[in-house]
This record gives sequence, structure tokens and C-alpha cells, in this order.
Amino acid sequence: MSFVTSKTCLILVWACFAVGVSVLVSCGGGGDGRLVVDPPKLQSLNFQGSPQSGLAGRPFEAPIQVAVVDKEQGPSDVDVTVSIRLEGAPATNLRGTLERPLVNGVATFDDLTIDRHGQDLTLVASAELSTQSLSVTSLKFSRGVKAGKRHVILMIADGWGYPEIAAGASFSGQRPPYANLSSFAMSTWDVDVKAFNGDSGYDPKRAWEDFGYLVQSATDSASSATAMYTGVKTNSGRISVGPGAARERLQTIGDLARMNGVGVGAVTSVPISHATPAAFVAHNDSRAFTRPITDEMLFGDPATTGGPVGAHGPSPILPDVLIGGGHPVTGGNHYVSFAQLVKARASGWMVVDRWGIDGDTRKGTPARLIAKAAQADRLFGLFGSFFGNIPYRLHDGSGQDPEEPTLAQMSKAALLSLERQSKGFCVVIEGGAIDWAGHANNMSQMIGEMVGFNDAVREVIRWIEDPSNGSDWNNTLLIVTGDHETGLLTAGPRFFPDKPLGEVTDARIRAETYDYNYGVVASWDDANGNGRIDYETSEEEIYWAWNTTGHSNCLVPCYFKGMASERFKDFVVQKDPVRGDYIDNTAIYKVMLEALRR
Ligand SMILES: [Zn+2]
Repeated sequence: MSFVTSKTCLILVWACFAVGVSVLVSCGGGGDGRLVVDPPKLQSLNFQGSPQSGLAGRPFEAPIQVAVVDKEQGPSDVDVTVSIRLEGAPATNLRGTLERPLVNGVATFDDLTIDRHGQDLTLVASAELSTQSLSVTSLKFSRGVKAGKRHVILMIADGWGYPEIAAGASFSGQRPPYANLSSFAMSTWDVDVKAFNGDSGYDPKRAWEDFGYLVQSATDSASSATAMYTGVKTNSGRISVGPGAARERLQTIGDLARMNGVGVGAVTSVPISHATPAAFVAHNDSRAFTRPITDEMLFGDPATTGGPVGAHGPSPILPDVLIGGGHPVTGGNHYVSFAQLVKARASGWMVVDRWGIDGDTRKGTPARLIAKAAQADRLFGLFGSFFGNIPYRLHDGSGQDPEEPTLAQMSKAALLSLERQSKGFCVVIEGGAIDWAGHANNMSQMIGEMVGFNDAVREVIRWIEDPSNGSDWNNTLLIVTGDHETGLLTAGPRFFPDKPLGEVTDARIRAETYDYNYGVVASWDDANGNGRIDYETSEEEIYWAWNTTGHSNCLVPCYFKGMASERFKDFVVQKDPVRGDYIDNTAIYKVMLEALRR
């Protein structure tokens, strides 16, 4: 072969080569004027910078760019597609758009994620030119959280707000265990509330001027949980599935933790596949489809024991700890079936229950749960009796079944099991029945459940501050909040919630009854004995009143301490005239994500 020395011809050759054409050119002045030129091996693929380490399941912080480079002329804009693949981790997948065209000589991959943590990973880019196959391997990188432990603990009191906390403190005479933590108020609206209200979802001015505003529309636990776990506002009832017709499967902080090798747990005092724990690790169009939700939580595949109604595909990495109610022993419970419980035991879950399904005695269940927690690879504690529910603890401490673990005992078990995870864990702990007591307008149940929740918070803080287990406030994020208020508990019928409740005493709790004047459940000093609140005519002292049997759109408090919690201040939305600066519940996701990244 012969080389052309004319500069003009060289440019022409390369220009033709650049569009992928084998060239036959005429260069005046040589022989017959025809000259066959093999393509010069001057082009190569190059990564523009190396892939950055970061979280599995999250897009790369900077897009991955691959250039076809001409050694003398820089990026070469040939008409070719560059494809990309992952090497170094057989069980790990590269997701996103894996083929991209060259634009100005560079292929840009801006939506790539890696679905599971791994080290010494490489990306391999390749392109088929008509004349040569190009391939290049990136420098090594890792996806996953950094070495070392982090603990993310989100405690949610379902149906909880400022008045409920005040009532609990008034009755017990004890400051709640989160009283010393930092806090902001927090809005809880979902997309349906925003559409109904025709405003930003929560308008501080309307909230304190129009009493009806707070109860005309409110989030449910599913959409609120989705906002806290995914940072995305959705429609009422959805379990980590996005809003509208698109129904996108959302990635939860629980999913992200699992993808990154961090332990994951969900604990609740109500059935385990109820909305708040479910949305942490499962994805469904509706909270009502509890069986496929339970299948997804226990086995990863929402179609394990039945149809995958409402589901959005499998969650291949299982949680490590699930503890809650929903036991099928009495029937009538649609949360967990016997088939699911038996299959869980056969498929690697260490089951602890109180009805002998775990092959153990039926006595000393809470102690057994805690003892087994430290040995279990996967811990499934399933409790409850009638309809799978754990009986209410009432305000005077009665009603509790000693064979049902308290929320504090469940929390302790979860922490003991999860603390062995080498990269730490992410856990949600729900006091679920405060909401039920609010729906029932029942102060006795509400106080009892509030005491149970506060005890659980004390247990968690004790664990964080225990010097023997490697946890401290530097590597632990604690968030204590509510998903929404329930019952619009106030100091009287149609009183705004800034007026303090009357003192909550045993006698006043027992006097709580339905008032036919305003149509609310309340406790008041019925001076004239007519069974009606007469505060306008005879100035009867009112202690409290429940203004709805549903949820309210009140701001709720969000308490926090520890790792990454200083970030909350960056997410303040606005100032409420009564509650002060408030954040939105989507900020919880953002701060938990920050704690995972560190
Ligand atoms: Zn509710």
C-alpha cells in the first residue's frame, strides 16, 4: 500500500473516513490518479473522566461520556452508536439507556444506574465502525455506601400532632423523650389534597382563618409514607407508586439501603403490611392489596402466594427485619395469610409468633423475640390476635396483653438484629394505632398508644447512646415524626388547634362522651348536666374535643438529631404563624438519603 503525503489528500481521506466510508480518492499528479487507502488506525474510544463512585440505585453524579477520538484531530463525529456494559459483578445490572449516538464526537449516558452495590466495577464502552471495532474499559470504581456503619432510624407516630403530644405529656406528667431534640413543623399534604385545596397543599394563612380548611382534605398514611420514603408526592392510597396515570414505581429509601448493602427493617404496632411499613419496602397501586404487598415484603415477588394485583414487579433484595401485627390465627385478617406465614418460615425467615407457628412455646413471647433477634439472619416477628390486631394499651395501662410485645420491645429486637449489619441499617418504626384511636375519637386509647410510642423512642435513644454497640449521634440519624394528625383534637368544638387542651386526667378521660350540641366527642365539665356542651350559654369548661373522625391537614412536628440532621434547615418551605418554620414531609427522604451517602 502507499501513503499519500499531500496534506490536502490526508484531510480528504480522514473526512471521508470520518463518515465511515472506505475511500477511494483521486489525488492529482500520481500515476493513474487513483489510490486505494486503508483506514489509518488513528481512532479510539475514550472515557471522558472515570466513572465516579457513589450510591447503587442512584444515577451517576456526572453523566458517563465516551468519545471517539481521532489522535490528531480530537473528537471525531462519525455516525455510530456507542454501547456500554458493566463488568466486575455478575449479579449486578447496569440500567438505563445503554446505547447512545455520538453527538459532536461524544456519546453521553446520563441515566445510568447500577442496581446493587459492588467494588472494582468497570464500564466497557464499544462501538462498531465499518472499518474497525473499538472498545475501551473504564478505570475501576465502586457503587455503594462507604465502609463503616450508619444508622437511619425513622419513627412515625401515625395520626399524631401537637395536641396529641400535649395530651400525652399532660396525662403522664412527663416530657416526651423527643422534647429535647431539634424540630421543625412539617406539612403532610398529598397531590389529592393540593388539588382539592387549590393551593400549595397547605396554606398557613387559611389554616388559621378557616377552621374547615384543616379537615376538608387530608393525606392518608400511604401517600404520606410514600412522600417520606421517596421524596415524591403521590395520590392517596398509593404505596411507593407515583402520582397520576403514569404510576411510576418509586425507589424508596428502604430500596436504596438494600441496594447499597445496608440492613433494612420495618416495625409497627399494627399489621405489618399496613400502609406505613408497607411503603418502605413494597410498591403497589393501592394499600388495599395487602396480600401481594405482604408477598413483596417477605419474598420479593408480589405474586408468590397469589395474583400480583396492583404490584409493580419484584423487589429482589429482601428486608432483614419485619416485626408487627397481622397474625392470621383468628381469621378475618387480610394482611398476612397462613400460607404466607408458613412459607416465610420455610424460606429463611426466623419466625417468632405467639401461637406456636414458630414451633416454640406460647409463653414469654416478647422475651423470646428479643432473644432470637440477635441470632436471626432474617427476623419476622408476627403478632396480634383478633383480626391480627395487637390490643390497645389504654391510658391506665390496662388492655395490654403480656404475650404481645410492646412497640418498645419490638424496636429493641429490631435494633439487636440490625446492629450486626456491617454497613449499618435503615429502619422505620411505626406507632400505628395512635391513628386508630384518633379515628375512634378515644382519648384513653390515644394516650395508651402515645405512651407506648414514647417508650419506644426512649428505647431507641438508649440504644443510640449505649457505648457498647458502636452507635452514637455521629453515625446515627434519628427522626421522630407523624404522617398526619387524626381527629383534629383541639381545646373545644371548632377551636383552632393553637389553644392549649385542658389538663388530661383519668376522670376527664372517663367523662369523654358524645356532645349533641356540636356533634363531637369531647370531655367537658357538664355543669348543668344536660349532656351537651354549653360553653356559649353557661360557660361550661371544655377540656378537649375531637373535631373529625378523619385525618386533618394540620402541620405535625418533626423532631431530629444526629447524622445529617443539620440538613433539615435547608428544606424549610415557609413560616407558619403559629408553628413557625416548617418543612415538607419530602424533606425526610432528602435527609435520610444524605445520611446514606455519608
Ligand atoms: Zn388514619
